Amino acid sequence: MANPVVAIVGRPNVGKSTVFNRIAGERISIVEDTPGVTRDRIYAKSEWLGQPFNIIDTGGIDMGDEPFLKQITEQAQIAIDEADVIVFVTSVKEGVTDADEKVAKILYQTDKPVILAVNKVDNPELRSEIYDFYSLGFGDPMPLSGTHGIGTGDLLDKICQLFPKDGAEEEDTSIKFSFIGRPNVGKSSLVNAILGENRVIVSNIEGTTRDAIDTKFISKDNTEFTMIDTAGIRKKGKVYESTEKYSVLRAMRAIDRSDVVCVVLNAEEGIREQDKHVAGYAHEAGRGIIIVVNKWDTLKKGNHTMQEFEKTIRQEFQYLSYAPIIFVSAKTRQRLEKLPELIKRVNTNHERRIPSAVLNDVIMDAIAHNPTPTDNGKRLRVYYATQVAVKPPTFVVFVNDPDLMHFSYERFLENQIRAAFDFEGTPIHVIERRRK
Ligand code: GDP
Ligand code: GDP
Repeated sequence: MANPVVAIVGRPNVGKSTVFNRIAGERISIVEDTPGVTRDRIYAKSEWLGQPFNIIDTGGIDMGDEPFLKQITEQAQIAIDEADVIVFVTSVKEGVTDADEKVAKILYQTDKPVILAVNKVDNPELRSEIYDFYSLGFGDPMPLSGTHGIGTGDLLDKICQLFPKDGAEEEDTSIKFSFIGRPNVGKSSLVNAILGENRVIVSNIEGTTRDAIDTKFISKDNTEFTMIDTAGIRKKGKVYESTEKYSVLRAMRAIDRSDVVCVVLNAEEGIREQDKHVAGYAHEAGRGIIIVVNKWDTLKKGNHTMQEFEKTIRQEFQYLSYAPIIFVSAKTRQRLEKLPELIKRVNTNHERRIPSAVLNDVIMDAIAHNPTPTDNGKRLRVYYATQVAVKPPTFVVFVNDPDLMHFSYERFLENQIRAAFDFEGTPIHVIERRRK
């Protein structure tokens, strides 16, 4: 169900980020535009011939002071842990180097498909030199020129061929959710507390490394959940896990795989810039969202402490006005028993489908009470609305001229839809289409 993942590995300067940018194209998610989150792009969504996938440039995961060889082997390890297909990039300019062999050695340890790409093959004369790369032991090397854009189509064809086939995994109807947030807000404590209160299903089916850290449990009302681990919460110990980029990457991966994302804040420290970045990505990704204020036990509470905290959250996270807020403590377990039911409710709303007839009643009623805007004497006409997707619910409104739809009127229609149906916790999208 989740999009397959490609990771690019290789020693420095072979052209990984150049190849990454070629493949990622112009698609830049908001997170990368947000200062301080990912300074360079290391994670992007892309698509080839209708096949969506995510791509990671492991070369961008900087391990600070670690020695050079340690860094490239850790990066290769990340690729093995995170990806479905690995692209091992080398360069025809330098030929096969010791560092390439080091990377190859790590990659021998995985069963995942590895494509060997020889970059900087800028002209046909260089093609004969790629045969040296057979010595790395990954079969036919694929010639590439990242800067000239040669060979990327063939590479993408090959990548898509190697993705795991749909249908291989059994139908999983559990509700997938994750806790995301900056370090120390209490994510792992929440994970442990939740698992302590619910019946964990132990699976003896050997999954991939990535999925093995997901945990399934059954809540008191018999609903099946899958808790998706972020930032290596329960497999601490690898050097790269403490790097900021890796934790951002893991959070983004977890968000992509979740139906509902619990954005965890720390009541003790209040709201920080970093909280907004991660929340912004979850919103942008269209997931169901719950704001979980943890460490509620640490506050000395007056009569209005909760209302005041809520007011601050609403001010700071205006785009998340649909997200419910829950105040909990992983330590005292206050209100934790309410979390699974809240996640379930948000998930139901996230996949809610409104029959067209009912939807159109609401829209036409709204228009009768608040006439559509006009521009230069021309009035917006709304003919018909229909829901075209769930997760998140997406509505198409057929109109005479989309340019006549003002932002404020679109907001009005969205509010009317929200007032008529329960969409708490989920973003909804309203799109205008011209009807000829
Ligand atoms: P990375 O360290 O592996 O991410 O490598 P970069 O993408 O930063 O590229 C390293 C250098 O190689 C840069 O100066 C690129 O312009 C150059 N480079 C990348 N791809 C090609 C290519 O296909 N041909 C040539 N001639 N140079 C390239
Ligand atoms: P993570 O980095 O987000 O996974 O945070 P941890 O779960 O490791 O928690 C960070 C610290 O906060 C630890 O010392 C926890 O014991 C503490 N902590 C977590 N939840 C609570 C809570 O609800 N109340 C209090 N007082 N401390 C908490």
